[in-house]
Amino acid sequence: MLMTIFLAIFAAAFGWTPAPQTPPAVKLYVFDCGTLKSGNPDILLARGVTTTDMSVTAYLIVHPRGTLLWDTGVIPDELIKPGGTTEARATVMKTLQSQLAEIGYKPSDITYLALSHNHYDHSANANNFAGSTWLVQKAERAAMFPDTPPQNPNNAAPRFSALKNSKTVLLDGDHDVFGDGSVVIVATPGHTPGHQSLFVNLRRTGPVVLSGDLYHYPAERTLKDFTPFAALGNPEMEAKSKAKLEALLKEKKATLWIQHDIIEYAKLKKSPSFYE
Ligand SMILES: [Zn+2]
Repeated sequence: MLMTIFLAIFAAAFGWTPAPQTPPAVKLYVFDCGTLKSGNPDILLARGVTTTDMSVTAYLIVHPRGTLLWDTGVIPDELIKPGGTTEARATVMKTLQSQLAEIGYKPSDITYLALSHNHYDHSANANNFAGSTWLVQKAERAAMFPDTPPQNPNNAAPRFSALKNSKTVLLDGDHDVFGDGSVVIVATPGHTPGHQSLFVNLRRTGPVVLSGDLYHYPAERTLKDFTPFAALGNPEMEAKSKAKLEALLKEKKATLWIQHDIIEYAKLKKSPSFYE
């Protein structure tokens, strides 16, 4: 009873459905979408980041009620050559579609697409999933498809342009994707206007949170004044989002997976293996 009340209070705090006694059987697949060199390693090395290269990842969540693809890589599949392709600071060896195919999915099988945010290293293959239902924060969509041409055009825009006509669920905050509290989009604006992270409650693994780019390196969590990417977005908003996510991690006893953390990423099981 006490537990029920506690869960209800907590759910109210985050506006989520209370978690059922036994979480549904959710699977989480980790895809290899390549690596990305830092554009400015010196400021990172100065604060003790020894490995400045970043992993690029995408994830498939398989829930009894459907699938959710989270992020879509840094180079479009059609440009990936056998043996790998390098474009600017990014190198990709495997296509996203081949990794989906390996576990039996085509783009048309994907129920929902959500990007942590619109930057080029998360949205490269977005157009291939324009047939899915797109879960996007209102503010992010407005930034992606501005009414008037922006002063600094987003170089990723051609790679997500097809989402403009996708079936879209416009979000304004957290969103419980399958309605049972097991997979929840957590609004973490700042890096971009509608940046988001993803909470996934796994039966065996326990709860994990996919960071998006709220953090890029673990040092940003320990050194509170180390915010090398804050100037790209809204630093105050990003600081609030970090506080919100840290509170959530503590309450849910969840593990944060920093998507660009190449050291932790190297330890993860990759698809076709999965977490459950
Ligand atoms: Zn990124």
